Amino acid sequence: MLNFSMYSKFAFIFFSSITFLFSNPWEKEKQQMIDTLIQYGIQDKNVLDAMSKVPRHEFVPKAYKSYSYEDTPLPIGFGQTISQPYIVAYMTEQLDVKKKDVVLEIGTGSGYQAAVLSLLAKEIYTIEIVPELCERSKKTLKQLGYNNVFVICGDGYKGYPDKAPFDRILLTAAPEKIPEILIQQLKDNGILVGPAGKIQELQYLYKIQKINHKIIEKKLIPVRFVPMVKPSK
Ligand code: SAH
Repeated sequence: MLNFSMYSKFAFIFFSSITFLFSNPWEKEKQQMIDTLIQYGIQDKNVLDAMSKVPRHEFVPKAYKSYSYEDTPLPIGFGQTISQPYIVAYMTEQLDVKKKDVVLEIGTGSGYQAAVLSLLAKEIYTIEIVPELCERSKKTLKQLGYNNVFVICGDGYKGYPDKAPFDRILLTAAPEKIPEILIQQLKDNGILVGPAGKIQELQYLYKIQKINHKIIEKKLIPVRFVPMVKPSK
């Protein structure tokens, strides 16, 4: 038999769940996205936590909002895309970010990946070459209160010497080959993760570690990213 106190406990749990779902209309979709990431093998609890906190729907254009938590890349305009959640999770896991780290990202796009990183690291410097995307992501990140993300408008091919060296570097656009100058801007014991490969050919994700000033390169998984644009001089 249920007594009054048990009834009131059930009622409390029931009504607070309803209130939670109504005040967080994306919560169910977001939880499904996290379940998919776990099914695909993402294990790092900090990465899963960060991705369950960042509202991906705020980084997706209106026309695609209803697909915000599908495991798929989505167009963000100017021929660019916000990466697939699994790829964001996989790259973030491989980057093994620590709370004290200063991170450089090349290819801000929507700002979503930078927001995820911002919950795991000390500061994020992120460079975007398309001026409109740069301004838009700056605005989104500011509105959502990601105050440790600094968006820089310009070419990321040469990295960001002003704040180098970095603990971690992440490329979210694919050069033919990882630029040497970016590896130089990596601290000792630092990690760089990024795709590389020729346009129209198969690209791979690489993990480059600098251990006692030695470079160790590991080929991870096949991927498809937009090319890293090399501005003509
Ligand atoms: N990280 C993004 C997705 C990136 S898509 C997100 O979370 O939404 C790749 C981005 O890299 C595009 O916005 C593209 O404009 C940018 N890009 C391409 N070449 C670049 C370069 N040389 N310097 C800086 N950004 C570049």
